[in-house]
Amino acid sequence: MPQGHVVCSGLVERIGEEMGRIIHKYDRDNEEKEIIIDEKIADHQEGLNLVADLLSHHEYGVITDVNEVKLVGHRIVHGGDRFHCVTRINKEVKEAIEELSNLAPLHNPANLTGIKTAEQVFPKATQVGVFDTAFHQSIPEVAFRYALPEKFYKENGIRLYGFHGTSHRYVSQKAAEFLGQDPKKTQLITLHLGNGASMTAIKNGRSIDTSLGMTTISGLVMGTRIGDIDPGVLIYMQEILGYNWKDVKRILNKESGLLGLSGDNDLRNISDRYLEGDERAILALSIYVYRIKKYIGAYIAAIGKVDAIVFTAGVGENSSLISELVCNNLEHLGISIDKEINNRRNGSERDLSDAKASIRTLVIPTNEELEIARQAFTLISEEK
Ligand code: ADP
Repeated sequence: MPQGHVVCSGLVERIGEEMGRIIHKYDRDNEEKEIIIDEKIADHQEGLNLVADLLSHHEYGVITDVNEVKLVGHRIVHGGDRFHCVTRINKEVKEAIEELSNLAPLHNPANLTGIKTAEQVFPKATQVGVFDTAFHQSIPEVAFRYALPEKFYKENGIRLYGFHGTSHRYVSQKAAEFLGQDPKKTQLITLHLGNGASMTAIKNGRSIDTSLGMTTISGLVMGTRIGDIDPGVLIYMQEILGYNWKDVKRILNKESGLLGLSGDNDLRNISDRYLEGDERAILALSIYVYRIKKYIGAYIAAIGKVDAIVFTAGVGENSSLISELVCNNLEHLGISIDKEINNRRNGSERDLSDAKASIRTLVIPTNEELEIARQAFTLISEEK
């Protein structure tokens, strides 16, 4: 930093399972090399220790000593309404992340383990937290409140918080740059379509509404998560069908979405089946796309004049079928793409719009790691 040049990247997978895997990519004479190590990794601490060993390894390493690492940026899922921006991690911040675990029981405890381990493994580094919810703290009360009795908000913190904020923020800034506009004067609808998926309405560079809410289930149809549903259905499932809350939680999070509709949660497979005329796949993708179109309509109404819609993440960056289906028949709103340009995917920032479009349609690859690194670096530079 500050150039943002990647010298090393990697992934630790299947922690706690019979066989774990570490993928380590490193720069050697301006060439990217990769090694894969398969071994049992008992827990996150052991995983991060192995990463530290690789970073300073005599053959595969990119530093000579772990103490050369000055800054560790952590992605933290839930910052509630306490964290509006990138934050230096201290005892109070760790306690707050722990308290917020109620709101993100799967993610915040794991994030905390990451922080505690990194403190041990990189003792000379400053630890910095970048919260997935922070970018959405600009959402006004009219959009973040649910119409529940007031006490559930005031006493229990039940409200929309939003997620994928680091990605929405990164692509919104990149989109403004791509359009040659000041981000603070740019109006966008960003579509983060991965396994999890969310859309954000961005007015003058700030998030004003987003489709994920207090938890990560609402809004769009996702790989295995349901997205929007009449809440009465959940009462019906329990009262009439006899499911308990644990069943309902599992069904909504893990058995619904594209998986529930089509039997598969990988959009590549479903797209192949769609093109072969498979009826379940056609219905699943039609519901997936219809939901996105509804949010585009809603967010144009919320924002006013929109400069561009932006596709990002695994599906958004790679699937020309989804961008084609989403943009189809939206000419009356000013959204219109060139099918040939849309079919040429090349992994870089692109404008899919045709000459008729008054709202541009962009593909901007997301880079959450770089965004975290930049925010952490800026915080530390400003503190000096
Ligand atoms: P995560 O939310 O886990 O970070 P990703 O952003 O990696 O997810 O997106 C994963 C999704 O992207 C999967 O459903 C996968 O099928 C889809 N995807 C990846 N590449 C393609 C492609 N070439 N065409 C269609 N879908 C793709």
